[in-house]
Amino acid sequence: MNSTPNLQPVGIDKKQVTWVAITMIGVLLIALILPLAFIIQDSGDVEVKSKKSLKIAQKEPVKDAKTGDEPIGKVETLKVKRPNFKAPKTPSLPGDSNDTFGLSFDPVGETETVEVKKVIDGDTLLLGDGRKLRLLGIQAPGGSSVEAKSATAQLKRRVEGKSVTLSFDEKKSDRYKRVLAYVFYDGVFINGWMVGNGYGYHSEWKPNTRHTELLVTLQGTARAKKRGFWALEKDVEDHYLSYQRSRYFHRPKCKRVAKAKSTPDKLRNRDEAFEKSLIPCNDCNP
Ligand SMILES: [Zn+2]
Repeated sequence: MNSTPNLQPVGIDKKQVTWVAITMIGVLLIALILPLAFIIQDSGDVEVKSKKSLKIAQKEPVKDAKTGDEPIGKVETLKVKRPNFKAPKTPSLPGDSNDTFGLSFDPVGETETVEVKKVIDGDTLLLGDGRKLRLLGIQAPGGSSVEAKSATAQLKRRVEGKSVTLSFDEKKSDRYKRVLAYVFYDGVFINGWMVGNGYGYHSEWKPNTRHTELLVTLQGTARAKKRGFWALEKDVEDHYLSYQRSRYFHRPKCKRVAKAKSTPDKLRNRDEAFEKSLIPCNDCNP
């Protein structure tokens, strides 16, 4: 019997030649399309003139009699749509900083390790097990202000999707069944980090006052150094108003002042409000 092994023919078969050709055409096409793609991305919704029409316009710098600046002649235009993508937006403040100011210390008292599923706003988290957590001792700016957006973005950057350590004070939850805690990530006291960087105001939460002194000091430094939202210039009023049992202060013409039934206390300036640990109202943003 003939036992010659079934040898493959030497050389390149037709299939391989076809694939090489397709690959080469593909590479050529990418090389041609890529620069065009960059032009499209840069131009956004602007009308892009084709090369040919640009040449015509340059060779015949005839001014339009009416407007004086529009080139006359056959100008081909190509409407280019911006590609459908959203650039990540982190609202920034003039006083943005990343400093942790030696806020690394061990959490005191009862602790728990949890996953942060989502940052809801600058002082509220959604935990992996579905519970909501309110950061103790701080109040982030609310509403749709740049301060509020920035506070959310900064807290997100620090803790979203991370495993954090909670440290509890006297009262562990509030009437909304939210967990009340100090949050530590990577050894850093996050509540303090928010206040110290000007992304949150200090706000007293009795009886949970373990870090009050530290938070007051951090806020004072953040104000003095114009960190975060403390760098924003605000229109100054000749006085401000606050109410008993409310942690907010207002401009005299705030709609909340107009609606209030009780008599307000008068504050000389913003300094006096912050010395009393009051927080700017989300409506009048004093
Ligand atoms: Zn107000």
